[in-house]
Amino acid sequence: MIGDLLQNSKAYLDFKKDLSGDKISHAYLFLGEDKLARRKYMRLFASTILCRAGGCGVCDTCDKIYNDAHLGVHYYNLDGKMNVKMAESLIEESYKSSWEGNDVKDDDRSSGASKRIFFIDNFDSVAPAVQNKLLKVFEEPPKNVIIALFAGSTYAILQTIKSRAKLSYLPKFTAEDIHNELIKDGYSRSIAEIASALSDGSFERAYLFVEDEGYYNQYSECFEVLKNCKNSTMVVDYIGNSIFSKENIARTLEFFSIILKDVAIKVSGAKTPYTTRNRDYDIQLIAEGYTTASVAMAILEVNQGQAMLNSYISPVTVAERVLFKILEAKYKWQ
Ligand SMILES: [Zn+2]
Repeated sequence: MIGDLLQNSKAYLDFKKDLSGDKISHAYLFLGEDKLARRKYMRLFASTILCRAGGCGVCDTCDKIYNDAHLGVHYYNLDGKMNVKMAESLIEESYKSSWEGNDVKDDDRSSGASKRIFFIDNFDSVAPAVQNKLLKVFEEPPKNVIIALFAGSTYAILQTIKSRAKLSYLPKFTAEDIHNELIKDGYSRSIAEIASALSDGSFERAYLFVEDEGYYNQYSECFEVLKNCKNSTMVVDYIGNSIFSKENIARTLEFFSIILKDVAIKVSGAKTPYTTRNRDYDIQLIAEGYTTASVAMAILEVNQGQAMLNSYISPVTVAERVLFKILEAKYKWQ
């Protein structure tokens, strides 16, 4: 389960070490692109600190945390729209000496159970002016408060804040992890196969894909095109395929890229596992026309097509170019 994967992550084990050594920081910065995993990690983090059994998952405290109903756990900026006003309310809230409904006994005051936790998600999207406003809680940390920031990267985070928060990386998951999780969740093999291949290690992305069966047909069609498109006349026929429509072409190129990378693994004889699953025979068939150089070229051409889409070049032009260039790479680099 994602929960197990997170509990075994370095970020979590390091944090547990802090906690048991009474070296818990007043500010953390957790980096990870996967918003779903971030959300799960927040609950795990809070329950580990606040639950007297270190996050048992079944007590009243844990139950409240997992239902987002614990009064000592505050969430900010889940929607990425934090403004100065919200920052001010966070500051005010964090300096309050205790929270209402606090049933912590006096002898628990010094332990983690009396802490309050403020999560700020999407911190890399918080405007510099808002970050500046928040600087106060990092410079003069409120008592018994832990601020935990979550972001995809540190790029847009003020140095003054970065330097005051303990940096930790959330794990990136493998396609295998995600595949197994989806099967456990009761999704069919075919759906789990595509969603994990596409996930790029993100549960958030994987779950977006499992919600829509149309993805699977498109994915299968991409294999067919790469297997069968053998000459320029066929290119012209394929351009009309719905996988190259305005709505679909971006994802088609993403699929092409994933498939061709596996083809590159096949051609080079590398021991790296494939990203696609249960498609070994298709990969082998596609690989037959390629050398390592030509498949590398084909992947570059797909990337080039993605860049063209981003500069608003028409889908038909992009599709035509990518298919021709893939053919050309195959013959030129034999
Ligand atoms: Zn508990």
